[in-house]
Amino acid sequence: MYTEDQARQKWCPMARVQEDGNAPAANRTTKADNPGTARCLGSDCMAWRWTVRDKRDKRGFCGMAGPI
Ligand code: SF4
Repeated sequence: MYTEDQARQKWCPMARVQEDGNAPAANRTTKADNPGTARCLGSDCMAWRWTVRDKRDKRGFCGMAGPI
């Protein structure tokens, strides 16, 4: 489980980026480790799921990928 800020630093499994103008979009790139446009949207995404611990330690996970 991640805090929302931690999740927002991870690559979304649904994200695709295009390296060159004519190249197909892919889930990975050789030019950047983790481009900002491919990162998790956290609770702004419909797939985000919260796990309730307490109000000071809010964590969740990607409902598409499942809890870690
Ligand atoms: S919660 Fe949404 S934006 Fe985040 S990794 Fe999952 S599908 Fe991608």
